[in-house]
Amino acid sequence: MAQQKTDVMEKLVSLSKRRGFVFQSSEIYGGTGSCWDYGPLGVELKQNIKRVWWRDFVQARADMVGIDASILMHPTVWKASGHLDHFTDPMVDCRACKLRFRADHVDAIPWVHYCAATKGNKFTIAGGEPCHHCEQRRTLCPACGKGELTPPRQFNLMFKTFMGPVEEDAAVAYLRPETAQAMFVNFENVLQSMRLKLPFGIAQVGRSFRNEITPGNFIFRTREFEQMEIEYFVNPHETVEGRPADEYWHDRWIADCLDWFRRYGLGEENIRLREHDPDELSHYSKRTVDIDFHYPIGWSELMGVANRTDFDLKQHAQWSGKSLTYFDEGRHEHVVPYVIEPAAGVDRALLAFMSDAYREEEVRGEKRVVLRFHPELAPIKVAVFPLVNRDGMPEIARKVEAGLRPYLNVFYDDSGAVGRRYRRMDEVGTPYCVTVDSQTLQDETVTVRDRDSMEQVRVPIAGLRAHVEERMGAWKRPV
Ligand SMILES: [Zn+2]
Ligand SMILES: [Zn+2]
Repeated sequence: MAQQKTDVMEKLVSLSKRRGFVFQSSEIYGGTGSCWDYGPLGVELKQNIKRVWWRDFVQARADMVGIDASILMHPTVWKASGHLDHFTDPMVDCRACKLRFRADHVDAIPWVHYCAATKGNKFTIAGGEPCHHCEQRRTLCPACGKGELTPPRQFNLMFKTFMGPVEEDAAVAYLRPETAQAMFVNFENVLQSMRLKLPFGIAQVGRSFRNEITPGNFIFRTREFEQMEIEYFVNPHETVEGRPADEYWHDRWIADCLDWFRRYGLGEENIRLREHDPDELSHYSKRTVDIDFHYPIGWSELMGVANRTDFDLKQHAQWSGKSLTYFDEGRHEHVVPYVIEPAAGVDRALLAFMSDAYREEEVRGEKRVVLRFHPELAPIKVAVFPLVNRDGMPEIARKVEAGLRPYLNVFYDDSGAVGRRYRRMDEVGTPYCVTVDSQTLQDETVTVRDRDSMEQVRVPIAGLRAHVEERMGAWKRPV
């Protein structure tokens, strides 16, 4: 099973490149480490994930609003948030080869050893193990086996840059490492301009940047990524169903997020909750629960839902000198709201949806690769084919395509056998293929072929759009 899963990652990377989902960044120059570009189908998939998320969590809810803040923020934001002081990894450097390692990972990596007991022969020894000839353990650089390692130094994961024309300390700015802080610093603006009442949430979708030392696993961990974050503010003095409001809403958000991922296709067996241990919690968190997904690389985080308490608003109030409170009219008191933070990565969500949707099947002795995306997420909703390129079929097919295009993302294909065209659409997850054939010429009906069941039905051209939209709405994940 593990072997199969690793295979799937390689297949996804290859399919992504071949069919225009994801390309390596700056590939013609040899690529940029752990940066990826979304191609024509990848950008559609990604836009769909963000659009559906925004619709379901912001537009469809009366207690939610959105913002779109700038990536560069006042540097004091990162002092107040704790990122300047705490968003660090301890690093050690080799004094000889200059390679840098995470201090807490260095013992686990295989190490190069020139063994004095065997006249200086070179060995590579598994991480954490001693040399079997001399019983020595690693003290030098694991990569070159010669250099001493420096004592650990804290390395900040924020990307640093300069605002304006002068590269001096006073002009230092950071690319935001998370979108969350913009919701906190805009708390008062949003509260006043929208005249909101607790509980309410502010959502944002946008790019964040982290100078990760060990990125990797395709789009799972990258230095530049997109987040979909919500800060949901609640009154900590209130109770809901007999529980403190923050605890009640925390569980509600975990359930809502879990439901959302299931609704758009993630299988029950590939998704689970993971409670953070007390010693694992961030300094601001009362409780954090991750939604983990079974990626091809194993179980790992898809999103986190944290109870950040009143830490952030209090910090920003202190550093800005502004009051960041809510006036509770019923109790006649100013309160600092608690905040529940559901934070998801767009790229990770995309990888999860893609790997969950990926299937290899046998159909009449032939292999078919299919991405069983939820139709709302599928980059192309409908492909339109003329069965053959004569007898007026291409003209009718072009008309069918033009009729659907204002409403649905359509793709026209007239090259190769129709079976091949179906397979190409299966491989990119197109849920419906419409074919114009000789019967169309007589009764103005077309066939609609279902990606998952491969069954075909005849539908009048006039009712085609309604037919497709109805089926999109009724889609169920095949087991
Ligand atoms: Zn070295
Ligand atoms: Zn040795």
